[in-house]
Amino acid sequence: METGTLHPMIEADQQELYALGRKMFAIPELGYKEYRTRDLILAWLREHGFDRIERYGETGIIVTVGSGRPSIGLIAEMDAIPTPGHPQADPETGAAHSCGHSTQGAIMLESLKVLREELKQRTGTVKLYFTPAEEFTDIAFRREYIRAGRAKYFSGKINMLMDGIFDDSDVLIHLHAMGRYEGHRFSVGSTLAGFVYKEITFHGTASHAAVNPDKGANALNMFALFQAAVGMLRETFVDEDKNRVHGIIVKGGSTVNSIPDEVVYECYVRSFRPDNLLTLSAKIDQAAEHCAAALGGTATVSELPGDLPFYQNEDLNKVIYRNMLRHTVPQEILTDERSVAAGDIGDVGCFFPAVQFGYTGFEGYCHGRSMCVIDEREVYAVPADIVVGTVTELLDHPEEVEAIKANFTPAMSREAYLRHLEGTK
Ligand SMILES: [Zn+2]
Ligand SMILES: [Zn+2]
Repeated sequence: METGTLHPMIEADQQELYALGRKMFAIPELGYKEYRTRDLILAWLREHGFDRIERYGETGIIVTVGSGRPSIGLIAEMDAIPTPGHPQADPETGAAHSCGHSTQGAIMLESLKVLREELKQRTGTVKLYFTPAEEFTDIAFRREYIRAGRAKYFSGKINMLMDGIFDDSDVLIHLHAMGRYEGHRFSVGSTLAGFVYKEITFHGTASHAAVNPDKGANALNMFALFQAAVGMLRETFVDEDKNRVHGIIVKGGSTVNSIPDEVVYECYVRSFRPDNLLTLSAKIDQAAEHCAAALGGTATVSELPGDLPFYQNEDLNKVIYRNMLRHTVPQEILTDERSVAAGDIGDVGCFFPAVQFGYTGFEGYCHGRSMCVIDEREVYAVPADIVVGTVTELLDHPEEVEAIKANFTPAMSREAYLRHLEGTK
């Protein structure tokens, strides 16, 4: 395996970096519960002399070095995912770092330490954002968390986005574990799909199913009509958008002897295009409402916005790609993959030039029980070197950052985004 030389500080810090990585991997906590992870990061920051530290919510952290423009943002996730059977799963919660988020934290902390030194000879700012609660999981807890006013939205980045936390940064750099090596050491420019989670309730009127069905309004029939309508809508789906509507009935009525008065259908609506995701979501709601009305009932939709599709900033990826080539050959870099995975970086990418590159050095697959680090240099040191190389290049060329910003168009207006979040059409 060809690999380039590391920044001298990263070269020297390797053992400390790997020890930090191991510690973070051993503290798997679910979203909005990353307290021990937060404390470990805060202790590391203080120990290494960082003093411009802000806290966000209960577990988020923002650290700043340098001053002035350009201002480059780095994003690291913090949470784990339920992975029963994982050797390093928390025995109580079953959570493990099988999505590798802990490794992002260690990489970015090392990158920040090096960039603080690099900034002594340069102008510009680097901010590292630790973003909680990325995985769409532990739904009941998060509903309660939001009800108690401890966060506004399910996802950490969405809260931060709506609170303007990223507004100080011109561009945002994020990275994610790819799982085991399968012919590519890195990925650049991967597109992620987006999704909306819906709970559609069809309301009818109960009556005796044999004696007086004429007095009832059958909610199950409303659902059946709706399913037919969704099937017909599929002919309007454009192949490249990879639209998906899939779900389950969680309540089909109350008793066989009564006309079903309530049917509950849970589904995901997915698409590769942000604008299309919202249009499709609205079409599904409309179909539900009209099919219910056609049979004398009503339908109500409650929604949880999932993640928006992620389109990476191509100009910024060119800089990342150049820096990957210091460590590998083009054949080992996966480019422009269309992944059906989703992430809340998608929402951020709708409003800021943002990228997420992939790195390897793991065994197993993301979210799998055998996902673990097998090559620490590859997981921690090399990605940190790519981040440092990319950021110093951007700091040295503020005109490139200006051009990236000038070329960037947000995928939707803030108002449309807020409507999407609030579930109002
Ligand atoms: Zn994940
Ligand atoms: Zn992840």
